[in-house]
Amino acid sequence: MKNKTVREISSGIREKKWSAREVADVYLAEIAERDSRYGCYLTVDPEKVRSQAEAVQRQIEKGEQNSPLAGVPIAVKDNICVKGMRTTCASRILENFISPYDAEAVQRLKEAGMIILGKTNMDEFAMGSTTETSAFGPTKNPWNIGHTPGGSSGGSAAAVSAGLAPVALGSDTGGSVRQPAAFCGLTGWKPTYGSISRYGLVAYASSLDVIGVIGQDIWDCALLWDAMAAWDRKDSTSVPRQRGRLAAFPKDGLSGKRIGIPEEWLKEEADSEMAAAVESAARKMSALGAEVQNIHLPVTAAYGVSAYYLIACAEASSNLARFDGVKYGMRAKEYGDFHEMYRKTRGEGFGTEVKRRLLLGAFVLSAGHYEDYYRKACTARARIRQEFRDIFQNYDLILGPAAPSSAPALGFGLEKPLERYRRDIHTVAANLAGLPAVSLPAGLSKKGLPLGIQLMAAPFGEELLFAAAACYQDAVMKLECPCQRGERDEDV
Ligand code: GLN
Repeated sequence: MKNKTVREISSGIREKKWSAREVADVYLAEIAERDSRYGCYLTVDPEKVRSQAEAVQRQIEKGEQNSPLAGVPIAVKDNICVKGMRTTCASRILENFISPYDAEAVQRLKEAGMIILGKTNMDEFAMGSTTETSAFGPTKNPWNIGHTPGGSSGGSAAAVSAGLAPVALGSDTGGSVRQPAAFCGLTGWKPTYGSISRYGLVAYASSLDVIGVIGQDIWDCALLWDAMAAWDRKDSTSVPRQRGRLAAFPKDGLSGKRIGIPEEWLKEEADSEMAAAVESAARKMSALGAEVQNIHLPVTAAYGVSAYYLIACAEASSNLARFDGVKYGMRAKEYGDFHEMYRKTRGEGFGTEVKRRLLLGAFVLSAGHYEDYYRKACTARARIRQEFRDIFQNYDLILGPAAPSSAPALGFGLEKPLERYRRDIHTVAANLAGLPAVSLPAGLSKKGLPLGIQLMAAPFGEELLFAAAACYQDAVMKLECPCQRGERDEDV
């Protein structure tokens, strides 16, 4: 059952080709044998996985469980709480924190009979785009281990790409589901802000954070979204579902659709391979019945990245104040008074990138600078939202790159944070405006690394976006990581 989609694993279980326990054993064996090469997982508890799988199998046999997800394993990013398991956010400060409860999204997947395989590596507190800021070492891209799998949900993307999980949860504050999915040749689904509860997702920037899905294709992503999207009173920003359950997508999901390509995103912000991938996707979409035109997003292109980083850091500096050596996780071993305990705990517990952002966030929120930075960033955000509202008056979808290029080499620009931040230009806009967006594989670079495009829709346009993505994906070839066929993944 290796390399099977969620749907294939699930129908195999229902047709009694294999049991949930057998499926779990296959993935556990793969992880034990191959994960040391990539570093996808931070925690795997084989005993727990097996007992969950046996319990779900019994429910299926008694006819008590007939969800299309029953018995299918899933990897979960390590900033999403799973009861009784470590939730470290890839940070020393939470190294030994065991969550006493399930995130709402996890709870819903467990109710649907999914089996939690383990917790995946990420950038510390989801701050980064390469999984290199993890306190526990980087994850490597299974397509080529000299390259980053992207981030911050790099462990989740690498696990699915290497065949160490059929599907995974990630979180997306500024692109962390879409970009790693794109770098690993997968489909990355970021829902409308508020459609999946954030309860149990460790907060980075609360007005931008969403839980998303990294899958092998859009149909698997849609199945999981369907199981997770619901109003939750435990999350004050959660919104009710607009419609009932998703039906099968129309085959002609692109016919008559108006698609805009922001010129600014291609001209200076994408390399030639990526620009060619977007142009070729546009041609395919036209052939499938869409009307594709160039559009302009001048405000978003000029201010998106700056507004995003000011707002994200400001919110992070407030959210991460809770890690104080008292309520959660580690406390420095030696200290004098309370202030020293606080200073040392945070000094030892957080890594360099997290500290950089907490300082920046505290600065832009401070009395003398609030008006100059934070307030201006919020104004820019309001104008960006308006720019998208105006575009969606005339267009159904926006098409662009999921990143400026294919996956960079590990260590790329490590000492140049601003250059790294700039590379998020294509993804942060959807978070600032709360839009649903999906990254889809679109061929390979000359070096043999996946390229990813992105489609975006107006808020709550999930069904339109699923249908359009399905129609496109039906027409293009699926990418399969060569490492799954036992081929080399060395840097060449
Ligand atoms: N790369 C972006 C950042 O570092 C996005 C991260 C994310 O989506 N969690 O903030």
